Formats: sequence, C-alpha cells, structure tokens
Amino acid sequence: MEIKMSSSTSTEPCEIVTGEACGYVIFGASGDLSNRKLIPAVFSLFRAKKIPDNFFVLGFARTVMDDHAFRLKVKDSIQQAYGDIVEPEIDTFASKCFYVAGSYDHNDVFFHLNEKIKYLGKMFATGGNLVFHIATPPTLYATIVSLLGKNDLVKRKQNKSPFQRVIVEKPFGRDLESAVQLNKDLLEYLTDQQIYRIDHYLGKETVQNILMFRFANQLFEAGWNCQHIDHVQITVAEQLGVEHRAGYFEQAGLLRDMFQNHILQLAALVGMEPPVEFSADSVRDEKIKFMKSIRPFDLNNLQKQLVMGQYGSSNPANTQTLKAYREEEGVATTSCTETYFSMKFFVDNWRWKDVPFYLQAGKRLEKKLTRIAVVFKKVPHGLFAGNWQGTIPSPDVLILDIQPQQGISFLFQAKVPGSKMCLEELRMELDYREFFGAKMDEDYSTLILDCMLGDQTLYWRKDGVETSWKLLTPVLKKWAAKSQKEQDSLLERYAAGGWGPAAGKRLIEQDERKWIVT
Ligand code: NDP
Repeated sequence: MEIKMSSSTSTEPCEIVTGEACGYVIFGASGDLSNRKLIPAVFSLFRAKKIPDNFFVLGFARTVMDDHAFRLKVKDSIQQAYGDIVEPEIDTFASKCFYVAGSYDHNDVFFHLNEKIKYLGKMFATGGNLVFHIATPPTLYATIVSLLGKNDLVKRKQNKSPFQRVIVEKPFGRDLESAVQLNKDLLEYLTDQQIYRIDHYLGKETVQNILMFRFANQLFEAGWNCQHIDHVQITVAEQLGVEHRAGYFEQAGLLRDMFQNHILQLAALVGMEPPVEFSADSVRDEKIKFMKSIRPFDLNNLQKQLVMGQYGSSNPANTQTLKAYREEEGVATTSCTETYFSMKFFVDNWRWKDVPFYLQAGKRLEKKLTRIAVVFKKVPHGLFAGNWQGTIPSPDVLILDIQPQQGISFLFQAKVPGSKMCLEELRMELDYREFFGAKMDEDYSTLILDCMLGDQTLYWRKDGVETSWKLLTPVLKKWAAKSQKEQDSLLERYAAGGWGPAAGKRLIEQDERKWIVT
C-alpha cells in the first residue's frame, strides 16, 4: 500500500548563486561527454543566469572544425538535450562559443591556444579567470596539464582571482600506483585547490540531499547507528549494456568503474560522521575517515564477500534477443571483464560495528536503478495478537532513490482498518522531481558551477582518491593475477535483462536479508 507525502512550500526563495566571469575551456570538445553533458550543462547555467555575461566557451580537440562548425555542434547538442529551447536563446549562447583544433601534445598548439584565450579574455572581460575541463582519454590528463603549465595557462597558486582551475574527468587512475602518479604529475603544475577531480554522481541533487537529510533532521540521525540499523544496501543497476564504450570498459571492468568512485562516495555519505562545519575540507575529511574505517578485504576468502559476474545473451519476454557481453562490438570473445559485482563489507568504527554494507552494481540488469536502502532492525518482540502473534513484522526501511526516480520513501508497518490486528507495510513517498520540478539542476551544471565558484565540496580530494584506490587495488591485483581459465570459472554468468547471477542474491540471502529493488 502506498501513501503520498506532501511538503509545505517555503515562502523564502532559496539563494541563487552566480559564478564569476570566466572562460570555460573543454579539452575533448568533439567527444561524447562534451556533446551529451558538458555543453548542455553550461547552457543550462547560462539560461538560468547562473553564469554572468562575461563568459566564453572554448572547445579544443584534434577534429578539424572552425568556430562556425563548432557552434553548429553546440546548437545540436543543446537541441538534443532540451528539445523545447527557443532559437534566440541558443544563438546568444552559441555566439560565445569558439574552437581551436590541434594535437594535445604539441607545444605550438598550446601557444596558439594561449593567444586565443587572451584574445577572448579581453573580448569578454573575464579578468583572466579560467576553468579547464579535461574530457579526453585519461592517458592525456597529465600531458595536457603539463603543457598548460609550460605555456603559462595555469600557474601553481591558491584558488584566488584571477583563478585557473582544472576539472579532471573520471577515471582518476586505474589503481593506487597510477592515481598517486597522476596526483604527482598534476601537483607539479597545480595546487590541490586548483584540481577538481569529478565524480558526477556527487552533483545529483538526491546525492547532495543525503547530507541534508541526515544532518538537518534529528529523527533519523538519532537512530543512524549499529543500535538501530540492521544493514545498508546500495544498488547501482544499469539497463544498458556496454554500448559504444567497449574499448574503455574492457580495460576497466565494473568494479574499477563503479566501486572506487560512485558507490564508495554513496557509502561514505551514508556512513560518515557529521563534519565540524559545512566546508569542502571538513566534509571531505569525514568521508575519508569513513573510507579508512572500511575493513580491508580478506583476500584469502574473497568469495565470501565479493561476487563477480558477466551477462550472457537472453530473450526476455520473447521480444528482442539481448546479446551476451562477449558478443558485443569491441569485446573479446574470451573476455573475463566483469559486468556485475555484489559485495559485502564492514566498517570498523563505533557507529557501524557489525552492520554489513551490501553493494551491487551491474550492466544489462532488469531496469535502471540507483538506490540506497537503510534497513532498520526489527522490533525486539512480536506484540500483536491474531495472525501476528509471536511474529516480528518486517523492519522499517528508508529508501533514498538517486536515479531514475529521485526521492525518499519510508516503509513502515501500520494497522489495516477494520481488522482486529492485521498489519500492512505502508510506503510514504516524496518524489523529488515532482515536488521541486523545474528547480532541479542537472549533475554537471551543479559541478561546473561549483568549480566556477571555487567550491570543492563535491569534488574528490587527493587523499580521498588515494584512500579509495588503496582499498580496491589489492582486490584488482588478486583478480588480475589469476589465469584466464580461473577467471572464467569464477565469473558468474547471468541472463541479460535480469537481476544478476544467483550468487549475487545468495551473498545477501545467506544472511537472511534481500535486495530491495522493487
Ligand atoms: P570520446 O571518445 O567520445 O571523446 C574523447 C575526446 O578526446 C574526443 O574529443 C577526442 O577528440 C579526444 N581525443 C584525444 N585523443 C584521443 C585519443 N587518443 N583517442 C580518442 N579520443 C581522443 O570519450 P568521452 O567523451 O566519452 O569521454 C571523455 C572522458 O570523459 C573520458 O576520460 C571518460 O572516461 C570520461 N567520462 C565520460 C563519460 C561519458 O558518459 N561519455 C561519463 C563520465 C566520464 P579528437 O579525436 O577530435 O581529439
């Protein structure tokens, strides 16, 4: 049974902040991310007047284009993202967009880039403020930053005006060693206050809301500990398969792609202690403290806490056949790359003693769903008579839905009217998008604006990214050390379009708990 929750609308308008005048330079401007996310995000900031008129976009990539061709591409990506936009709005935005073509590792090109940036800086009176967004393959991150440094496009200094800040896309490294090296390379030319290591999940309103929900409401926080919580579970399910990203995914795998960043960030938001203040460093200090408290994986008994899987072909509901991962374009026919994992870990601190955290993520699952479920302990005694006598009712569950639904639900027991003693589980639900509607910002808009404002709260800090890799790297190494034959036999197969392998269910069900995905 479901009941809707309403909320009183505040009469106080929420503060709308505007970024400072600046130039926004995209490396990899001809790519998918720029096209689908970055350009629409910057446009939406422009449209909402969250960036001032003193602003320009400069795209950079090897693909040969002039300003005119780039503007057509910009208009097209905005139309694709928001079909309902009126032409003059797009034209005004496009007139602020420019392009430079060239190779990422040629000094001469960076000299030319510098000249164009200076020219545009004067034209738009941006006061020398610059945000560089590196959206290229990760192998180029260090090269680009070194050439920015050598050409005086960035100077190593504090986050002060005129500022130069660099947003670095994920993945940030592929293990601890490479992440440490990348940090070292970037820190040669930038301070950590100038480096914005992105995890776009953190830009989602519902993810940001986890901290507000926990620390602005006494009720739940009072019971947010091992005395009252039975377990926490996080599901990140994708309905899509590997799509066009096989080249990257074959090298990465899902554990590397999802656990080290998105999922660990979600777990940290649920599990961290209250920060001393709401500042970038205080929040990140607490998240890192949480990650450091996660008990290292027991490499000799890994199968007890980790299941890896790969999707096979299937024909759900006898419609269209879904290909197996190994049949996807660009994937080796013998590939042992995992497209699913489920995991259980413990957090060795006062708050979370003996409370398991269960995580599962997968491609080609039944539906797209990112959800955190905090499952409370059952009541200690079955009080009610009749059918319920002696039976302990289901526990209360708090569900934080991140995507595609964005909202909060609370499952609790209530009396069925007319019955003597029957209980039923009710669901109180707040749909974030329905309630706040147009006020919802897209993740990349939030993050890009934060960078323009110099706010690093939602970005990874150097020690955070290294802590997360430190936790995962031994597991990755253990897996990589296995022969192809061993990996093949350990990989649990699951039918595309389902809810993952049976072993993934067993991981939680053997503890008499279950995944909450419906
Ligand atoms: P694409 O392959 O679509 O684009 C890559 C961009 O980098 C293009 O502009 C390409 O343009 C340029 N490039 C430069 N050198 C190379 C090279 N050697 N090989 C391929 N491209 C090159 O990638 P995405 O836009 O999908 O991803 C860019 C970055 O963003 C990656 O690090 C990715 O992990 C990250 N990311 C992407 C997401 C997405 O949804 N797409 C989500 C989250 C992160 P040109 O050839 O013209 O130079």
